[in-house]
Amino acid sequence: MAQIQILGSAAAEGIPAIFCNCRVCCEAWKNGGKEIRMRTAYKLNEGVRIDFGPDSMAQEYKFQLHSENLKHLFISHNHEDHWVCDMLNYRRKGFSVVDEQNILNIYGNQGVIRQLYKYFWDKLTFNGDWKKFRLNPIVLEAFTPVLLEDEDMEFYPLNADHMIGVPGEYPQFFVFRHGSSWAMIANDTGYFRDDTWQFLEEKKFKFDLVITDCTGGIRDGERGHMSGKWVLMTKERLEKLGCVSDSTQYYINHFSHNGHATHAELEEHYNPYGIQVCYDGLTIDY
Ligand SMILES: [Zn+2]
Ligand SMILES: [Zn+2]
Ligand SMILES: [Zn+2]
Repeated sequence: MAQIQILGSAAAEGIPAIFCNCRVCCEAWKNGGKEIRMRTAYKLNEGVRIDFGPDSMAQEYKFQLHSENLKHLFISHNHEDHWVCDMLNYRRKGFSVVDEQNILNIYGNQGVIRQLYKYFWDKLTFNGDWKKFRLNPIVLEAFTPVLLEDEDMEFYPLNADHMIGVPGEYPQFFVFRHGSSWAMIANDTGYFRDDTWQFLEEKKFKFDLVITDCTGGIRDGERGHMSGKWVLMTKERLEKLGCVSDSTQYYINHFSHNGHATHAELEEHYNPYGIQVCYDGLTIDY
């Protein structure tokens, strides 16, 4: 049995969104609890996480993450709500005590790794020497698996349908095995691209857990993110492929206040379809 923890469940602006006075944000201020959402990130275990956004520090304290034990960090794409590399600067001598053998592997597409180089290039102490920071950047190729033997995990990066910065460079989402359990975390994607559907069909994954994008809440959101009918269409097609069955735990995550739905309203809308709603701190055994 594997476990995952939702460290954040919001889209870029968070909920309540800073400066915002909309109904969802006002309800969140009033009711607190599950309505308060930090930017999306996931803990797969002590050593493995997905995404590292602007709320990483708050998540560190709130969920006692102990990042000194982090070994593998997978980044879905180079958007500021998922990838803020500044904090990695503090892995070097004088800012923290990090053992020389304690290397943090950073996995991401070209854009993610480019962002890392861009940030560190300005540092006087860098000189292209990742060892100083105990970092190891690794470029992920779509559909090419990465095996983490030490964690008994296997990762498949899939192409997302999401805002693209560079032609041909797609944001990624992840299918992974942890022990004998299989999961898919697919936020920051619209209804999947054809190459991704084809890959899912070929691999015949059987998921114990699926978490998909639902940025637009209960509205029928446009491509690039998912919500409304697109969430349901994705679930139906995964069922048709045999990737999702009655024994699959199915969740949605990455919510924007612009989706016009509180946590309770999301549950009311999606629970009848067998879809659960993520919130900050939720742990799921799968
Ligand atoms: Zn996002
Ligand atoms: Zn708002
Ligand atoms: Zn994004």
